[in-house]
Amino acid sequence: MISVSEAQKQILDSLSRLQTENIKIENSLNRILAESIFADQDSPPFDNSSMDGIAVIASDVKKTNKDNPVQLNLVGTIPAGKAPEIKVDHGEAIQIMTGAPVPEGADAVIKVEHTNLDYSKPVDEDQVSVFYPTKSGNNIRKQGEYYSKGDKLIDSGQRVRPQDIAVMAMTGNDWIKVIKKPKVGLLTTGDELTPPGQPLSPGKIRDTNSYMLASLLENSGAEVVRTGIIQDTERAVIKALNLLIKEDVDLILTSGGVSMGAYDIVRHVLESQGRLKLWRVNMRPGKPLAFGEYQGTPFIGLPGNPVSAFVGFYIFVRPAIQKMVTGNYLPDRQQTAKLTISISSDGRESYIPGNLSKDDENWYVKPAINQSSGNLFALIPGNSLIILPIGVKFLNKGELVNVLKLDHE
Ligand code: AMP
Ligand code: MG
Repeated sequence: MISVSEAQKQILDSLSRLQTENIKIENSLNRILAESIFADQDSPPFDNSSMDGIAVIASDVKKTNKDNPVQLNLVGTIPAGKAPEIKVDHGEAIQIMTGAPVPEGADAVIKVEHTNLDYSKPVDEDQVSVFYPTKSGNNIRKQGEYYSKGDKLIDSGQRVRPQDIAVMAMTGNDWIKVIKKPKVGLLTTGDELTPPGQPLSPGKIRDTNSYMLASLLENSGAEVVRTGIIQDTERAVIKALNLLIKEDVDLILTSGGVSMGAYDIVRHVLESQGRLKLWRVNMRPGKPLAFGEYQGTPFIGLPGNPVSAFVGFYIFVRPAIQKMVTGNYLPDRQQTAKLTISISSDGRESYIPGNLSKDDENWYVKPAINQSSGNLFALIPGNSLIILPIGVKFLNKGELVNVLKLDHE
């Protein structure tokens, strides 16, 4: 049996970054950029006013004050979105609105509150009184003050956020190049499984893993192709696998059928029809993990016990997806926390659902009381997985443990 880190390494080493595709920016949220975004022009693109007010020559109003205001001739108006057609000469002012280009000649904008004008109604004065002096450059956003044409604004490889999409729009990009979304085929096996909408007959249980794994995949940025519940026969499993191959999936993920039981068909099919590269990992829960390929497509087989499937997803599948989109895998930062009660395991590397919390000084983690790999409910108060290294069978209340937070999606 191999260790968790060896298994993780084998899986990651066999995967590489997916191809790129071009998509519209409005569909790019959370995708991984495969090109850098450059400025197509200066920003701001032209000197513009940051206030509603008047464009002036600052030296004209150097000595003005409230009791003895300088009067300037009002020679025109520039709304936002209009190129100025007139220029400002000494003794003149032009009404200007926020964002509008500063006219030639002017070197400052005086806000309307510092004049006798009232912009709540149309201005019909042909003169304006200026109550306060100003300095050259005041209230003008200079061309190129944020960035210059040709500057790199967003690096290739970044995950696209809403503000990145805004910058793409600003730089005139309507289509961008991103890494393809991993397409993952999800195959759930088990004769005992019933979908949630149907009555349970004796001996049957509800299928939880299809729903859990599909949403974990989506959270990790994958597109999911589901086969639905597949019976534990070689024929049914092969048929479902072939269907996923036809769908051209990048990864096949299965639930159930990889342990020691007589009906654990998935592993047998992989052995006889594909390639089983790895089976069984020294971990708890989730020992019967299978990894290999089917018709050249990578394959990860998770055990059917829901907590095992959940843990297996976090430890093996999520890193695999990260590798496929970013080209590498950066392990999540772990938090050290004090155990609120004692904890025991069997010496395998263990991942135990826990509730992580913090007071003013310390992090605490409360392990699930019932650590059965079938106890899905342990994951409801659980916001983390407590990691016990190989060989550790018991830790006392108050001892420090490493914890993997689960809220990083
Ligand atoms: P298996 O890995 O197929 O041997 O299944 C191990 C245990 O997990 C059995 O008790 C199954 O009934 C249960 N199980 C398997 N698949 C699912 C599923 N999709 N939803 C809920 N429980 C499952
Ligand atoms: Mg089964």
